[in-house]
Amino acid sequence: MNLEVLNGLLKPKSIAVVGASATPGKIGYTVVKNLLDSGYEGPIYPINPKRDEILGLKAYPSVLDVPGPIDAAVIVIPARYVVQVAEECGKKGVKGLIVIASGFSEVGRHDLEDALVSTARRYGMRVLGPNIVGVLSNSDKCNASFAPILPLPGKASLVSQSGALLIAMDTATYTRRVGFDKLISIGNMSDVNFADMVEWLSQDENTACISLYIEGLKDGRRFIEVSRKTAKPIIALKSGVSAHGAAAAASHTGSLAGSGKVYEAAFQQAGVVHASDLNNLFDRTLALSLQPPMKGENLLIITNGGGVGVLATDAAERYGIPLRFAPEDVQAELKKHMPEFGSAKNPADLTGMAGREWYEESVEHTFGHPWVDALTVLYCETAMTDPMEIAKAIKAAVDRSGVTDKPITVSFVGGERSERAMQWLVEHGIPAYGAPDVAVNAIAALREYALTHEAGQGEFHPYADVDEAAARAIVAKVRAEGREMTEIEAKGIFKAYGLPVAQTILATTEEEAVKLAAQIGYPVVMKIVSPDILHKSDAGGVKVNVKNADEVRAAYNEILANARAYKPEADIHGVAIQEMAPRATEVILGSINDPTFGPTVMFGLGGIFVEVLKDVTFRVAPVNEAMAAQMLTDIKGAPILAGVRGEKPRDRAALAEVLSRYSQMITDLGDEIAESDANPVIVYEEGQGVKVVDARIILKTK
Ligand code: ADP
Ligand code: MG
Repeated sequence: MNLEVLNGLLKPKSIAVVGASATPGKIGYTVVKNLLDSGYEGPIYPINPKRDEILGLKAYPSVLDVPGPIDAAVIVIPARYVVQVAEECGKKGVKGLIVIASGFSEVGRHDLEDALVSTARRYGMRVLGPNIVGVLSNSDKCNASFAPILPLPGKASLVSQSGALLIAMDTATYTRRVGFDKLISIGNMSDVNFADMVEWLSQDENTACISLYIEGLKDGRRFIEVSRKTAKPIIALKSGVSAHGAAAAASHTGSLAGSGKVYEAAFQQAGVVHASDLNNLFDRTLALSLQPPMKGENLLIITNGGGVGVLATDAAERYGIPLRFAPEDVQAELKKHMPEFGSAKNPADLTGMAGREWYEESVEHTFGHPWVDALTVLYCETAMTDPMEIAKAIKAAVDRSGVTDKPITVSFVGGERSERAMQWLVEHGIPAYGAPDVAVNAIAALREYALTHEAGQGEFHPYADVDEAAARAIVAKVRAEGREMTEIEAKGIFKAYGLPVAQTILATTEEEAVKLAAQIGYPVVMKIVSPDILHKSDAGGVKVNVKNADEVRAAYNEILANARAYKPEADIHGVAIQEMAPRATEVILGSINDPTFGPTVMFGLGGIFVEVLKDVTFRVAPVNEAMAAQMLTDIKGAPILAGVRGEKPRDRAALAEVLSRYSQMITDLGDEIAESDANPVIVYEEGQGVKVVDARIILKTK
């Protein structure tokens, strides 16, 4: 994408306000006033056919009458006139349209929105919105919005899909002490979307951290791709449990995919740090915009109070960075700056006797120690100490330690003096929070950021030994016959992708069944084959451990009778004879075609792990074997695969390959497959491989 074009929207050198008004209280008035109040230095052209002058600026009847060039047009007129204005802006050579006007797709007027975008495209203009608050930028002294003021200056930039939330956050930046350079309202995302914003902000010299409030992404795959390439931290708060998950709950995987699990996976793949709520978005943004990532596992906590120390310890455990005792030399150093009854363990308790010197010395002489990967300093306001002095001592110690590649966070618990001291710390680049667990959570954000980047998502190199044409031929046959796919056909497609399926052959007579069973070797498994019966056990359509010819004959007739009783109108192809796989650990692979992210794989352990505990993990496909291996460790039941209670570990390498091949299958055939699963897949001991004993593919309706 040409990022230059977006400069017209986000760093405009001249601005027209179409729908400018001289009437206080109108948005067209507020926008012009905000531009003036924010000290915008480029020319501002109010556009209003009925007035010569607005707020002391010369007004023009149309953008076409403006003498100089216009980078951005802020549009605040009723929706029905917007397309006409866009046409004029195109003729004028405007670069970007900031469409504050509402009344488009958000109220069902997709036609107006489409016309707006196609007009803009014809002239090479980009569109922000419609239905937005506008764009605010401290570094450009530009408040091109109807939000009250420029936010508290800082190093993060926020992109918000909700306008109301952006306005609320704007003023909250002052009370929350979290600074932003830009606040960008993205609204309906008719043209410019989150991926464009991430791409542009990643090269913006005034943005150190990209903070996102997302209700729903439009192009999920591009978002992942762009985010992954970004060298700056990205943090996102995703609201709304995805409705599509519930809607597409035709399958097990579909119903499990709701509740934001796919977004969670996508964020992880994109290297995006998660925010759990609005407060958390502020708190984590502050840390990510001021501090470097936490590259190792060791957090040292220094405190003057036991209580806050314990709270921080609990939080560390909760947020995934459990505390360890510091090595002897660190403890010996700490002991120099505390009374006899202090504790040099972790948290290091300097006790209530700690004054500025002990804080200063303990921070200065431990932060640089190679064991310490991050530091959290806690302070409870006491009668004998001045919080501002402690704040200054911490800052001086950090500076003198010379450490710049490890993060530090601070928490002061106290009254107004503590508040002022924390404000001073934030102004001097050290994130400070009113509660110890929040200071630890902020460190956890810096750890998560480092981890998602260390893990590296790795390239996916497609398996070359697959036969996509054979797979597509099976799909074509099923489509031509206008029915669901049977297990035998699904296994055919699995096999074309090199997946180890249990040998499965169709018998259409009792005699044939006996012959095939002998050929495959006893014992065998027999199953109903019907496009109208997808849950075979429910229909009494599965017999395992069939041991001889007599049993085959009996099973054959019983399966057919059961199926006919279950669904009299079912089209029955026959009975499948299968090699019987020995029992071992059962797992499930599943896939959905997510409306935002496309083909997505799921992995979980079989039985109650999936049914009751919903212990599953997702990834946007395809996944390479390294990422597949990560999926195996994601789930809570991971120790079962690693081998518990003296059992040998399961063949996780073979399983990772199967998961990776499966993810390629659903990606290659993403235009055809709506959902699929392999339930169960049987996993043997290390070196013994895995076996897919059931397969199901549901095609997209076309
Ligand atoms: P359903 O359509 O009901 O899911 P499955 O094909 O999964 O039918 O069969 C039901 C159960 O029978 C499986 O969960 C598995 O435990 C067992 N089973 C099915 N096929 C085989 C096989 N080839 N070898 C061993 N066990 C099997
Ligand atoms: Mg099954």
